[in-house]
Amino acid sequence: MNYISVAIDGPSGAGKSTMAKRLAAELGYVYVDTGAMYRAVGLYIMRKGINLEDKETIIRELPGIIVTIGYENGTQHVYLNEEDVSGLIRTEEVGKYASSCSAIPEVRAHLLELQRNMGKTNNIIMDGRDIGTVVLPDATVKIFLVASLEKRAKRRYDELIAKGENVSYEETYKQMEQRDFNDMNRAVAPLKPAEDAVHADTSDLGIEESYALLKKIIMEKTKDVL
Ligand code: C5P
Repeated sequence: MNYISVAIDGPSGAGKSTMAKRLAAELGYVYVDTGAMYRAVGLYIMRKGINLEDKETIIRELPGIIVTIGYENGTQHVYLNEEDVSGLIRTEEVGKYASSCSAIPEVRAHLLELQRNMGKTNNIIMDGRDIGTVVLPDATVKIFLVASLEKRAKRRYDELIAKGENVSYEETYKQMEQRDFNDMNRAVAPLKPAEDAVHADTSDLGIEESYALLKKIIMEKTKDVL
């Protein structure tokens, strides 16, 4: 049996995970957040106090970094050497480590098989940066989700403030700009749309409108498959 796979790529803060989670719940697909896997690697390197410039040490550590994914009540949990780190990986600091580690080809190769295998036994919605281009080049639906840097920074800033974090909009904007630069300019699997991806821009859309747009794209592309 062939399973349906929906690839959603795009920069940080475009709303990929919010949209993908909700779409997966409504369509009955499994949601796979690949950023969480990179964050688990980042957390491991951060905890060990390894310098992000020291790529050789990071690569040497990889055999000891076992990342796995599980589901509890339909929610994805990420395990780092069997420890549930789902809550611990959601900080800006871990995001920074994840972004640097993700530029190392060996780190990407380390996570690729796990990501590909997820689509072999389930209908999935997978989000990340290189899903449509590298991880699932034959995905049934490919969406490239974007929004302006200003809008994404504002959304992230509002989220952080709501969580009680003490940040400024300027700082959030700069961090996001840097993250975009890293993700788009790395040599291996850079953030870019697959040739056959449908582009969706949510700069001027609210959550409900963005959701309706993505659902329409998925429904149209899967109507002949189902
Ligand atoms: O999406 P999220 O912010 O959780 O991802 C953390 C980091 O992992 C990103 O900044 C990006 O550098 C990296 N990443 C990646 N490829 C993916 C998913 C995430 O390089 N498929």
